[in-house]
Amino acid sequence: PLGYTVLKTPTLNKGLGFTPEEREKHGLKGLLPPGYLNLDAQVLLAMEQLRLKTSDIEKYIYLQSLQDINETLYYALLGRYTYECMPLVYTPTVGEACQKFSHLYRQTPRGLYISIKDKGNVRELLDNWPHKDIKAIVFTDGERILGLGDQGIDGMGIPVGKLALYTACAGVHPLNCLPVTLDVGTNNQDKINDPFYMGLRQPRVTGQEYDDFVKEFMEAAIDAYGRQVMLQFEDFGNSNAFRLLHDWQPKACCFNDDIQGTASVVLGGLLASERITGVELKDRKVLFLGAGEAGVGIANLIAYAIQQETGDPIEKCRENIFLLDSKGLVVKSRIPELQHHKLLYAHDVPTAPDLISAIKVIKPSILVGVSTITKSFNQEVIETMSSMTERPIIFALSNPTSKAECTPMEAYQWSNGKAIYASGSPFEPVEFQGKTYIPGQGNNAYIFPGIGLGALAAGSTAITDHDMFIAAKASQLALALQVPQERLDASCTYPHLKDIRQVSLGIAVAVADNAHLTGTASAPKPDNMEAHVRSLMYEPQY
Ligand code: NAP
Ligand code: MN
Repeated sequence: PLGYTVLKTPTLNKGLGFTPEEREKHGLKGLLPPGYLNLDAQVLLAMEQLRLKTSDIEKYIYLQSLQDINETLYYALLGRYTYECMPLVYTPTVGEACQKFSHLYRQTPRGLYISIKDKGNVRELLDNWPHKDIKAIVFTDGERILGLGDQGIDGMGIPVGKLALYTACAGVHPLNCLPVTLDVGTNNQDKINDPFYMGLRQPRVTGQEYDDFVKEFMEAAIDAYGRQVMLQFEDFGNSNAFRLLHDWQPKACCFNDDIQGTASVVLGGLLASERITGVELKDRKVLFLGAGEAGVGIANLIAYAIQQETGDPIEKCRENIFLLDSKGLVVKSRIPELQHHKLLYAHDVPTAPDLISAIKVIKPSILVGVSTITKSFNQEVIETMSSMTERPIIFALSNPTSKAECTPMEAYQWSNGKAIYASGSPFEPVEFQGKTYIPGQGNNAYIFPGIGLGALAAGSTAITDHDMFIAAKASQLALALQVPQERLDASCTYPHLKDIRQVSLGIAVAVADNAHLTGTASAPKPDNMEAHVRSLMYEPQY
C-alpha cells in the first residue's frame, strides 16, 4: 500500500509531520499515532534524543539512522545545529566510524560500492542507483582515510559524510548527490583478518589495471550523468592522487579535495591572518611538516597566490616555501630519491634531518602540520617559532583530533599568546591569561561545498586552480574576507560554523561567475548570479 511505502521512503517520510489531510490522502491513518509534530518540534526532539547518547560513535549511528528514516529531518538538524553535528558526521567521529564501518553496517543502501570485480560492468551498477539526476559525486578508494591510513571499503563513511555537508553547508539537493567507494582491495591486514570486513580480501590492485578501472568509472559517470557532473576525488593515497588529478582535470569537472580544497581553505586562513598582523603572505617564509597531498597542494596554491599578487615568475614565488617529509627537509641534494610531487620545492639549501633543525635553518614564520604525526609541534618547536617572529602562524591540521600536531592550549601557552592557531578537527575556545582565544577550524568544509554548488550553478565542465584561489581570496565574497573582526581579535582566521551557508553561497557565486568569465560554464548566464545560486539551494522543509 502506498502509505506504508511513503513512511518507509526517507526522502518522503515526515513521520508525525504529516498533516491530517496528508494522512487521509496517502492512506497513513492508523500507521501513525494521532499526534502531530511540525519540523521545528521534530528537530528539538531529535536533538534531545541525540544528546542522550553517551559516546560520539553512538551519536554518529543515531544520525545515520535518522538519515535512513527521514532525510528532511536529518538535514534540518545538520543545518540548524551545524556546530554540534558536524564533528559527528565528519572529522573527528567519521574517522572512528570508518575504522569500524563493517561492524556498524546496518544493511541500508547509502552510496554505491563498486569493486574491481565489477570491471567491465560499472555503468550497469550506476543504473542500479534509484536516482538518475546526479550532479555531485564524492568517491574514494579508501587508501588514505583522514590520517588513519588504508581503511579499504570501510572508507565509505567519508564520501557519505562529505556529501551530507554538500547538502547541509551549501544546499546541494540530497537526491543530486552520490557517494561512491571503489574497492580495489586493501593492504590493511587487520581488515583482511576481520571476519566482518565487507570488502574484497586481496591486496590493492595497482598499475595499469587500477588506472583502467578508475577510467571506466569516470567515463561511466560522465556517460550516465553528463559532462558537467562534478566528481570529487577524496582520500586517495598520494601515489595515485596527483597522477589522477593531473590526468582527469582537463577531461572532467573534477577536483581532489585533499590537494586542492585543503589548499584553498589554508590559503584563506593565511590571507585572513594578514588582517590581524599586517604582514603579507609574500613576505613570509612557510615550512610544512608533511610533503604529501595537503602539503604540496597548499604550497602550490600559495605560490600561485603570490604570483597573482606580484606578477613574479612562479619559481621565484616558490622560493620561500619549504617542505619536510619523513626523511627530513626536502632539498636539491635529495632529488634522485624524491617523489615527483616534491620536486618543485627541492631548493638548493643544506638538508636538515628533523623539524627543529629545519626551523632553525629556514626561520619560517608560518608552520603548517600535515604530517599525521601527533604532538610533533612540541614546546621547543613553538618556542623557537615564537622567538623568531612576532606572531607565528601555527596550523596543526592533521586529522582526526588525535593526530593534531599540537592542541590550541599548547600553541597559546608556549607562544605566550602570540600564536595564530588553526586545526583540522574542531577544538573549543580557550582562556589564557584572561583572554579568550578561538582556535580556527581550517577545515575544507568551508570550501568544497561552495565550490561544488558554484560548479553546479554554472554547469561547469572544469574546476581549475584559479577557482580554488578565488574561493580563498579573489572576491569580496571569498573566505578570507568573511571572517568577522571579533574573531580576528580572538586570533582566529576562520568564520563561525554557524555562518557556513553564507560562506558557501559567497564562494559559489564567485566560482560560477568565474566559470562564465573563462568559458567553462555550460548553463545560460543568469542576470543575477547570487539570486540564481540562492534559488538552487535546498532548504529542508515539509
Ligand atoms: P599524505 O599525502 O599521506 O602525506 C603525509 C606526509 O606526511 C608525507 O609527506 C609523509 O612523508 C609525511 N610524514 C609522515 N611521517 C612523517 C614524519 N615523521 N616527519 C615528517 N613528515 C612525515 O597525506 P595528506 O593528504 O597530505 O594528509 C596529511 C594529514 O593532513 C592527514 O592527517 C589529513 O587528515 C590532514 N589534512 C587536513 C586537512 C584539513 O584539515 N583541512 C586537509 C587535508 C589533510 P613521506 O612523503 O616521506 O612519506
Ligand atoms: Mn579528505
